[in-house]
Amino acid sequence: QAKDDGRNNYAFYQPEQSQFIEQWVRLEPELRRALALDQFRVFYQPQINAETGKISGVEALLRWQHPKEGLIPPGMFLPIVEEIGLMNQVGNWVLEQACAQAEKWKKSGYPNFRIAVNIAGQQILSHRLVDIVKELLEKYDIHPDQLELEIVENIVMKHADAAQPVLNELRNLGVRLALDDFGTGYSSLSYLKMLPVQKVKIDQSLVRDIPDDPNDEAIARAIIALSHSLNLSVCAEGVETEEQRKFLSGEHCDQLQGYLISKPIPANELNLWLDQQERQVEVR
Ligand code: C2E
Ligand code: MG
Ligand code: MG
Ligand code: MG
Repeated sequence: QAKDDGRNNYAFYQPEQSQFIEQWVRLEPELRRALALDQFRVFYQPQINAETGKISGVEALLRWQHPKEGLIPPGMFLPIVEEIGLMNQVGNWVLEQACAQAEKWKKSGYPNFRIAVNIAGQQILSHRLVDIVKELLEKYDIHPDQLELEIVENIVMKHADAAQPVLNELRNLGVRLALDDFGTGYSSLSYLKMLPVQKVKIDQSLVRDIPDDPNDEAIARAIIALSHSLNLSVCAEGVETEEQRKFLSGEHCDQLQGYLISKPIPANELNLWLDQQERQVEVR
């Protein structure tokens, strides 16, 4: 029977695959200690305003700095974290790191800087998330509007009855909500208008083949138009080429995120990146 407890679908593999079992056996014992040994890192990837090119915020993305294997991407270890029941702990840690970093950026002259944090299905279904976010907003000097929680479309659709009230409560705290990986799953377009989300993120699989695939262009165009008609803003993920940037900004996509702008990088590198952007603006 299909196990369905709010797990996300990460890019690398599904727990059903044999590769997963091998990785699990190898990584699980160390993964259990990773938090205590301070081996997790949060990287930040800029999101820019498609029209002005100015940075509007960042997405926080988790990595595991493994002492021997180097930097391990989330797709390789988050499914294990979910399976061994540590997703809430790890997810809460990321949330706190992101809030602390947002406070630092606020103090260093970026008061409106927005930080997007990915929230796992298990966090939404845990009943603790609302209190945790509330506590973090009290602890750190940031405006609730600076925090954006990214929720994967599939989780919201599959667990609508449980997820909807949580999303409403989160929204009542003043944080922003974004629907991640949009266009890949069980999108019920009529359902979109019932959710308290402010943003839709077009999945990178739809962006990848622009401009070669006219179908993907049509889908991206339709998502942008639909979102705007529902008063939602749109961020395109996985923007890698100038052609993609041109197409998406031509279609009035609000924000762009992808390697074309910057890869996810540690906060100190992002500070240097910000300095550079500033200089470029001054030079012009
Ligand atoms: P996501 O939230 O959809 O994040 C976007 C992913 O696309 C990131 O992969 C990012 O590095 C990658 N990406 C960004 N721009 C480009 C591009 O131009 N080209 C390509 N090929 N890829 C690009 P990453 O960091 O490996 O994360 C994968 C997924 O893991 C995320 O997808 C998210 O679902 C999950 N994840 C990451 N951090 C967390 C976390 O703290 N909590 C939870 N629950 N999930 C997380
Ligand atoms: Mg995301
Ligand atoms: Mg995504
Ligand atoms: Mg994704």
